[in-house]
Amino acid sequence: MSFLLDLIVDFDYYRLEIVVVVSCCVDISMKLLNIFVLILATISCKQKQNKDTSQPVEFFIHGDPLELVENTDQNRTSPFQENNLPSFASFALSGFIEIKQKSVVSAENRINGQAELEKANSSSGRTRFIEAPQYAFAKATETTYHYRASNVTGYPTLSFVKDSKGHLNLKTIASTQTSPVEPLHYSVSEDGFTFSILFTSEDSQGKKLTAMFFTKNFDQNHRRMKRTTSENFAFFLGRDKAIGWRQPLEVSICGKEALAQERDVREAINSWATSEGKISGLDYSIAVDETPRPFSDINQKCIQMIDQYRMEDQENLAELGSALVIINQFSQEIVSSHSFIFLAAHKRSFVKTSLVSTITHEFGHMLGLGHEFSRDPETNESLYDSIMGYSGIDQVKQRDREAIAALYPTANNTNPLTFINE
Ligand SMILES: [Zn+2]
Repeated sequence: MSFLLDLIVDFDYYRLEIVVVVSCCVDISMKLLNIFVLILATISCKQKQNKDTSQPVEFFIHGDPLELVENTDQNRTSPFQENNLPSFASFALSGFIEIKQKSVVSAENRINGQAELEKANSSSGRTRFIEAPQYAFAKATETTYHYRASNVTGYPTLSFVKDSKGHLNLKTIASTQTSPVEPLHYSVSEDGFTFSILFTSEDSQGKKLTAMFFTKNFDQNHRRMKRTTSENFAFFLGRDKAIGWRQPLEVSICGKEALAQERDVREAINSWATSEGKISGLDYSIAVDETPRPFSDINQKCIQMIDQYRMEDQENLAELGSALVIINQFSQEIVSSHSFIFLAAHKRSFVKTSLVSTITHEFGHMLGLGHEFSRDPETNESLYDSIMGYSGIDQVKQRDREAIAALYPTANNTNPLTFINE
């Protein structure tokens, strides 16, 4: 089996309700949630390589991208040192996100209705597969190191310069051209299997905020999680890819804006739980952090509120929230997750969705669910009531609980969680 990179740039998750505005003849739609993730997938290698996949996933925004990391606890001390580089050798790029300022969406990306929105946010059908970029350090000069893909071309090379303390600090990113960058935040997971780098750069189009996530390629003795389910649930990576958290999930309510909405956030999270205080078989807890780490941090799973910032790429859409889920496809588990909730979008006149409802939906993604878009082929009605659909359901429904039970079985569940070596 070979590992391939599944560039799910699932424009995941716009949530839409079409509202006809009486005073004008335009259908107003809302989009809720963009997830842009590069994911490592274990799939057949017969897929054709897509030439465009070296491009990062781009968020489209109004405003300064640095607002997303304002008032965060940044760690700019590089974890990379000359003597620990071998421990960062067997990693693959598993997430690559650029957030840049733009003001006009290209005509071909414009979304005109519910069907287009669901298609754009479907977790099936948009998947492109390429060979996974395996990264390793290589010494270039006495003080310079490159971190680059060793098995495929077209991926950016990160260049680091050694300082007087022996730390390697990120200086440039090079793909078609070389750009100087300023690191904002480094994070390494406690088990050492995942790390992320967050940095800013500037090009002719303006300021950019870039996050890159790397996950360890386990050896063949590492246990891979495998969840089996007979039902056709909509999971994050698609209907046949049930991937969730391996460890208990501690979700944090991050930043002053989110803490001001703490009751809503707790209500949304707890609405997924059973009376035993677990989310099916998953143990979870809720923490609060007034000065959280930036969204790229591997060790903190935040629900964060963005006050003024807008993500919409067209005037008749409102992006209410967005979830970022990083998956290690080698070990088949979610390794990091972060959710942005856009407060200003909820105040737009045509938006009827409550904050609790948006947070509940986003948290469903953080747990590993995708969008439930199943429709009756004859009537075109939604087949299931689900908070993960776009049909105006505002709370967790039976279908959602069944999908969660398939991801996180309990002792009483007939879908046992199994560990296998592959
Ligand atoms: Zn969604």
